[in-house]
Amino acid sequence: MLSDPPLSNSLFLHKLRAVDSIDFRSDTVTWPTETMRTAMAQAPLGDDVYGEDPSVNRLEALAAARAGKEAGLFVASGTMGNLVAILSHASRGDEAIVGEDTHAYRDEAGGLSVLGGVMARALPTDWKGRMDLSQMEEAVNPDDPHFARTRLILLENSYGAKNGAAISEPYFEAVHRLAERFGLAVHLDGARLFNAAAALKIPATEITRHVDSVTFCLSKGLCAPVGSVLCGTSEFIYQAQRARKVLGGGMRQAGVLAAAGLVALTEMIDRLSEDHATAQLLAGELAQLPGIRIEPEVVQTNMVFFELDETVPLSAQEVVDELKARSGILLGTAGHRRFRAVTHYWVRAAEVDQLVEALAPIVTG
Ligand SMILES: *Cc1c(COP(=O)(O)O)cnc(C)c1O
Repeated sequence: MLSDPPLSNSLFLHKLRAVDSIDFRSDTVTWPTETMRTAMAQAPLGDDVYGEDPSVNRLEALAAARAGKEAGLFVASGTMGNLVAILSHASRGDEAIVGEDTHAYRDEAGGLSVLGGVMARALPTDWKGRMDLSQMEEAVNPDDPHFARTRLILLENSYGAKNGAAISEPYFEAVHRLAERFGLAVHLDGARLFNAAAALKIPATEITRHVDSVTFCLSKGLCAPVGSVLCGTSEFIYQAQRARKVLGGGMRQAGVLAAAGLVALTEMIDRLSEDHATAQLLAGELAQLPGIRIEPEVVQTNMVFFELDETVPLSAQEVVDELKARSGILLGTAGHRRFRAVTHYWVRAAEVDQLVEALAPIVTG
């Protein structure tokens, strides 16, 4: 163990934050906790490309256990985790069935085709982000030289583009059965898997037992500064190591990052339901505001989407700019008259009150 003193002076830690702002734009803005800072400073390290970083090895083993899989692979981001999974499951010219508004298809710069040569067969999703099972079945190409080989189904939970919806287990079971029937692999983009599990009040493994591989982000609601983990069978993760190397994702003393991830997995998962309660509180308060339209019943996890009603002569961007100018509070837009607020460790009930108080005079004129 290192003999350096721990970074326990919170005044010092405070100075390590760029801006001490109230930020509802995303849960990616979360600073690492003080426990994480200390763990990072004290982490035992090695060269992870040689498989010798004890902190990374511990993180990968713990992540695999949390996901109910044999092995894990630490990657730089959720985007890299999805891409490594796609490269490991499918080859050039293969086809993947995806939701048309899923992150891996819409928000990852087309990586599956840019780097994997994989075609996307995009299907519509319902209000929770579920594809229709009969449409999925129709989308599986027959074994015929005219067609690309269908190889993979990509799922997401919680579903960001649909209010952060938590999709329950039966959908995954049904997709699993369909995939088995056609010999397809299933990858789950579980960037916020533990939010979904918390909202459904089930262990995450009830979902992940139906998929071949799963990624989850340490750097969102779980507060680690960097990183995701991809989990699957040992054989799959062995393949995935090569794909990660191809992408330039082989890191060296990555244990400084993994140490924060270990705190994320041991201390931060069980509190995610607090963020969901904060989201419910925010939705309830916004519903009382003239000028705001919201359906509080669609709020299931830590995301709150809401809109301006016709009476407000401003765009969402103008409201967000005005809010920042008046109060310093940061809020995201999700369209011309639509907003997204995400709750997380650093925004609680007090910050919700501040947001609603600052927003009220802007939207009521
Ligand atoms: C954030 C996110 C990702 C990608 O994670 P990054 O670490 O930002 O690359 C993937 N999928 C979903 C659903 C996400 O919300």
